[in-house]
Amino acid sequence: MRKKQERALEITVRLKRMYPKAKCSLDFTNPFELLIATMLSAQSTDVRVNIVTKSLFRKYPDAATMAKASQVEMERDVKQTGFFRNKAKAVIAASKAIVEKHGGRVPETMEELTALPGVGRKTANVVLSNAFKKPVGIVVDTHVTRLAGRLGLTANTDAVKIEEDLMKLIPQKEWTAFSHRLIAHGREICVARKPKCAQCGLNDVCPSAEEPPE
Ligand code: SF4
Repeated sequence: MRKKQERALEITVRLKRMYPKAKCSLDFTNPFELLIATMLSAQSTDVRVNIVTKSLFRKYPDAATMAKASQVEMERDVKQTGFFRNKAKAVIAASKAIVEKHGGRVPETMEELTALPGVGRKTANVVLSNAFKKPVGIVVDTHVTRLAGRLGLTANTDAVKIEEDLMKLIPQKEWTAFSHRLIAHGREICVARKPKCAQCGLNDVCPSAEEPPE
């Protein structure tokens, strides 16, 4: 087995070749929309979130309007994304904090973003990397967690620790794209239940690759 660092770089290069156009699959036109879409995407699919946000952002185009929304109405508006009570509460609370503490503009630092109600490090990383083009970390979602483990890039299961491990192995300029590409690979090939190792372009550098049947 090659050294981990070398393998990580090889994986980065191959993923770039395999998914040259991988990008954020949530629709957004500004940082506020991406923040809200990411908050709604927990335990949901990006396709479903995009359907919901299409009308949601027409109704509430900015933090000021969303901050004034009623809980009951917001629950109806985001219901299709699941966990709608908590999500409605969180997007209203985050919008209020953006209005009260940041003059209605989404803040651009990890510290300020994670201080918003309902915003964790993953959501902040999505916004910083994709809306502000400021990658200060790597987005670790369920696909990245699974693939980083299978590819032997981390032995950790905690998202923050996985992120730290990946940040040491992947060049910073690749952080945003690496995460999108890993997610694309997790959706298409290295799926949760039965990874398609025989079709995988990483199978010779992956310690979890299943042997092809005789
Ligand atoms: S070889 Fe198999 S386990 Fe490894 S990344 Fe590819 S699909 Fe996933």
